[in-house]
Amino acid sequence: MAGRAQKVGVLALQGDFREHLAVLRGLGTDAVPVRRPAELEEIGGLVIPGGESSVMDKLSRSFGLAEPLRAAIAGGLPVYGTCAGLIMLADRIIDGIAGQQTLGGLDVAVRRNAFGSQLDSFETDLHIPAVGDAPMHAVFIRAPIVEEVGGGATPLAQVADGRVVAVEQGNLLGTSFHPEITGDTRFHEYFLAKVRAAG
Ligand code: GLN
Repeated sequence: MAGRAQKVGVLALQGDFREHLAVLRGLGTDAVPVRRPAELEEIGGLVIPGGESSVMDKLSRSFGLAEPLRAAIAGGLPVYGTCAGLIMLADRIIDGIAGQQTLGGLDVAVRRNAFGSQLDSFETDLHIPAVGDAPMHAVFIRAPIVEEVGGGATPLAQVADGRVVAVEQGNLLGTSFHPEITGDTRFHEYFLAKVRAAG
């Protein structure tokens, strides 16, 4: 129905889903946690939070969510993944644990924990033209890097040495960093525009 506000889900198996729910609600969105396949049918978009991708992978399979999520992504559901969520959306994973699977959808290869133990967590300002001229303060926590960007995907942001930390492909969006904890809501707003356009 035109103009109807859509619910946006946040995958709530593990990780910092509460922070994403708070940001989305602060932007006036009807945001709901998603833990069951049936809940996917009620939403117009989904955020996959940060956390631990290997755990999220196992839980999504044991909760029977992995296949319905793959089908929803293939069907065009807008999905935004942060950090572990970006890993879940990547078609290819480097340095996953044995047997680790992703949902896929983004034509990229991501390397887990790519910044190494000396630089587990750090903060920096990024220039991201897609979300505006002002630099975005970005927090990286045991973050992945997008190591290869396939033809279908577009890089949106890079750290100073050129490594890619944000990508977009159609209805899918992924960031290595965590906009849900900095108070800068521009990435969530960018995602919500995709949700509205898809609805
Ligand atoms: N290192 C985590 C993983 O591999 C991601 C960390 C995060 O989401 N902050 O899933």
